[in-house]
Amino acid sequence: MNILVINAGSSSLKYQLLNPDTGVLLAKGLCERIGIDGKFTYKADGKKTLDAVDIPMPTHSEAIQAVLDALADKDNGVIASMSEIGAVGHRVVHGGEAFNKSVLIDDNVMKAIEYCIPLAPLHNPANLTGIRACQKVMSGVPMVAVFDTAFHQTMPPKAYMYALPYEYYEDDKVRRYGFHGTSHKYVAGRAAAMLGKPAEDLKLISCHLGNGSSVTAIDGGKSVDTSMGFTPLAGVPMGTRSGDLDAGILQYIMNKKGMNIDEMLNVLNKQSGVQGVSGVSSDFRDLGNAGKEGNARAALAVDMFNYGVKKLIGSYAAAMGGVDAIIFTAGVGENSAEQRLAIAGGLEFMGVKMDEAANNVRGKETVISTPDSKVKVLLIPTNEELMIAMDTAAIVKG
Ligand code: AMP
Repeated sequence: MNILVINAGSSSLKYQLLNPDTGVLLAKGLCERIGIDGKFTYKADGKKTLDAVDIPMPTHSEAIQAVLDALADKDNGVIASMSEIGAVGHRVVHGGEAFNKSVLIDDNVMKAIEYCIPLAPLHNPANLTGIRACQKVMSGVPMVAVFDTAFHQTMPPKAYMYALPYEYYEDDKVRRYGFHGTSHKYVAGRAAAMLGKPAEDLKLISCHLGNGSSVTAIDGGKSVDTSMGFTPLAGVPMGTRSGDLDAGILQYIMNKKGMNIDEMLNVLNKQSGVQGVSGVSSDFRDLGNAGKEGNARAALAVDMFNYGVKKLIGSYAAAMGGVDAIIFTAGVGENSAEQRLAIAGGLEFMGVKMDEAANNVRGKETVISTPDSKVKVLLIPTNEELMIAMDTAAIVKG
């Protein structure tokens, strides 16, 4: 069964057509500038690539129609007709406490996603727009919602509660939700396969390190703690996001600089993290290069990031009473041998022995610890779209 995976933003829409049984990617692309003019990109093996061609897209419906037209194009397409799409899997950022797994979309699910809008005011409305557009253009095709937050709904209260007045949780839903759930779930599944053990028997620490980063403790296949929080601003320092900080700093800086809370949050989201510390870039490759050329602030920013991840590995190992494997994934985790070594090196005291030669690899599933390392260290490229397609197919097949 082919699954169309949709990740809708407010003026863009990413798509992939996948077969979750074989893992084969048939086609992928992007609709941009929806509601402005419309640019369409399409890539499929052995077919002509369309690169940001002009197609009018007044709404997301025209964007979805352009995707279907391209997929079923008689010369350049990959399927004969829309009937070869068994279901659509939609990435939805926030499922609040309502969803602990992916779900077949019906009117009640749409209402529940709407109810979560205050928790993800930028993302959930765009995700809903994408779902409605698909329902309009692909009537009768089953749609599944896959939430970034759902995998973390297994965290115990001691991990998800903030030490704030309890009514902030009860009345206002303030708690740790966690994000990147689809990625953590995917790599945890792959780790179990690589180690040849059932997920139920494993304690894993998954490090999703990219422009946005989060670290998750996974015990017996379930997320038991994660570093992102009520919002994706929490945890380790990121490209431009501050990560965790002392809330007292906000009042101090806002008073000193005459900033309001929106301006302050804009700084924390867009001008902080490794960009803020280095003053060079939010991109870890740029920082690596600048550091080698002697830029001390760039080197410090990377050091702070690596140190933050290392501390989380230690604390999650303590939280779970041990760890069987540490997983590195996403842009930095998959590509930077140097940062993996800086993070997982020096942890011999807890049974982690990195294999420097094996670690000298990029973007492919590899064991990067020594054969005698008690704790395995794994490089696993993430594939959120495939995870969405797998969940979608499983739900549709019942
Ligand atoms: P993502 O958000 O998962 O796409 O990851 C993007 C981040 O991965 C950017 O900061 C990139 O600089 C970083 N990245 C990609 N390749 C490398 C590399 N070879 N070394 C260090 N960072 C990298």
